[in-house]
Amino acid sequence: MWSEGDVVVVRYVEPWGPISGFPVRVLRDDEDGIVLYLAPRSEVAWPYVDGRLVRDATLERRYTTEWSPGPHRWDDGWLLFVFPAGRAYGLWFFFGPDGTFGRWYVNLQAPYRRTPIGFDTRDHTLDLWTYPDGSHEWKDEDELAVAVRYGHHTAEDAAAFRAEGERVLAEWPFPTGWEVWRPDPSWPVPSLPDGWDRV
Ligand code: MG
Repeated sequence: MWSEGDVVVVRYVEPWGPISGFPVRVLRDDEDGIVLYLAPRSEVAWPYVDGRLVRDATLERRYTTEWSPGPHRWDDGWLLFVFPAGRAYGLWFFFGPDGTFGRWYVNLQAPYRRTPIGFDTRDHTLDLWTYPDGSHEWKDEDELAVAVRYGHHTAEDAAAFRAEGERVLAEWPFPTGWEVWRPDPSWPVPSLPDGWDRV
């Protein structure tokens, strides 16, 4: 296991290779899961299609071509990854530049695996927003349908992703306690090591 303060790389990996990479600092790594911190203005790797960010490609184009990682600077807020061990979801906590936290992003994804440089997972396309008042919103249901149509995920997998989201809603693991966490401003901003995408 990693120790608190270690710098590692979280990668989202497709069958053809990594599509994104985040240089993060370990806040916790134990049998319950991992908590990782991405500093504001980190240089990350983000998925590209046809030489531009994947979000600028049509849904059809996204699922008929292989994505590759390209440069992207994280914005002025920070991000926490809270990934429970063995579960097919990870929480992304988006904080504003002033430390404002508003809602939770439930990224449905493969249970994380350990690598020599950190952790790998695979994105499951479908996501959820959950709110402090107990409400929720599914995100990218249309994108998951397109992903299934083009064979990126099977219909059975898509049903399992949805079921994991329903399970999170039933469990409602919010708040987690990490909502009020604040980074040490003296920490340097980590960067991706050379070869991070070839491990
Ligand atoms: Mg997602």
